[in-house]
Amino acid sequence: MVQTETFKALVLDQDDAGLQVAMKQLTRSDLPDGDVLVAVEYSDLNYKDGLAVTGTGKIVRNFPMVPGIDFSGTVVESRSPDYQPGDKVILTGWFVGERHWGGYAQMACVKSDWLVHLPDGMTTQEAMAIGTAGFTSMLAVMALEDHGLKPDSREVIVTGAAGGLGSVAVAVLAHIGYNVAASTGRSETHDYLRALGAKTIVGREEISSAKRALESERWSGAVDSVGGDTLAGLLSMMAYHTSIAVCGNAGGVKFASTVMPFLLRGVNLLGIDSVSCPQPRRREAWNRLARDMPRELLARMTQVVSLEAVPDLSQQIIKGQIQGRVVIDLNA
Ligand code: NDP
Repeated sequence: MVQTETFKALVLDQDDAGLQVAMKQLTRSDLPDGDVLVAVEYSDLNYKDGLAVTGTGKIVRNFPMVPGIDFSGTVVESRSPDYQPGDKVILTGWFVGERHWGGYAQMACVKSDWLVHLPDGMTTQEAMAIGTAGFTSMLAVMALEDHGLKPDSREVIVTGAAGGLGSVAVAVLAHIGYNVAASTGRSETHDYLRALGAKTIVGREEISSAKRALESERWSGAVDSVGGDTLAGLLSMMAYHTSIAVCGNAGGVKFASTVMPFLLRGVNLLGIDSVSCPQPRRREAWNRLARDMPRELLARMTQVVSLEAVPDLSQQIIKGQIQGRVVIDLNA
């Protein structure tokens, strides 16, 4: 049982020497306001957490800050009629871990509006194996389906496939019945991606080096976690009346393209924002994840570490060196 009076946390602070990252003991009175107090069991490591903890991106602007954009755990106290002590809950997004203290602490105090109940049959550890990266993958799949994606002979491509978002997307799409192509820049991940359900492996450069406004039609849908030249390349290779779920920028923010894929092939770009996704869509996505994310594959793509490992792993994730998902056990 977590000690609720003093508890450990990873805290970011800034002084004249720059960003300081330290393990600290905090007390309840240190926590920000909120109507629900949660004993955090698990958090995770997303690309954005890597940016925050290394100070690479301007993710955190107010210090001190407990980072960690996701957590799962058990409600300890609640002033909300929607949550009772003992309820298992998940939090992703809503700028938690960026503007409001987040999941890299054994206790968190948050707004009830930001929480969702843990879906039936899912554990708090599985919820963080999914986390924002996996939740965003499901939002991408749902957006593609809303725009007409159905299993057929053509392949759906996932870029940045060996990363967190990509790994969950590959596994979920394959489980639903799509033919999945996984694009990766790491040859050592090919067996891993095939084990998740990818039928075809596509080299990173094969997409990003596409130069013509319209290449041969190849993909019936795309989940893109890379952006930049990869997104430009994807656009030129999409089949008629298909869509790309634009999720990430691991490879760059800017991209240069032409209007031709839109005008001549009716291609759609679908923006995916997990942070302020409305609650009904959130609940739908988590219920879909409980159904469509095979648990044995989730375990296979996940490493579980202690909070103390976060600074080193943050360096690795921003260099694109993490395979799959990292779960943080707050009680380890
Ligand atoms: P990961 O680091 O786990 O995965 C990113 C993957 O992108 C890497 O594993 C690598 O895949 C590929 N990659 C990395 N660097 C480059 C590069 N320079 N060029 C091409 N490919 C590269 O991060 P996440 O899965 O957590 O996040 C992925 C992206 O999605 C990030 O940009 C993140 O900010 C964004 N995101 C957006 C969300 C939203 O709400 N829209 C929510 C969650 C994440 P491989 O080795 O297979 O090539």
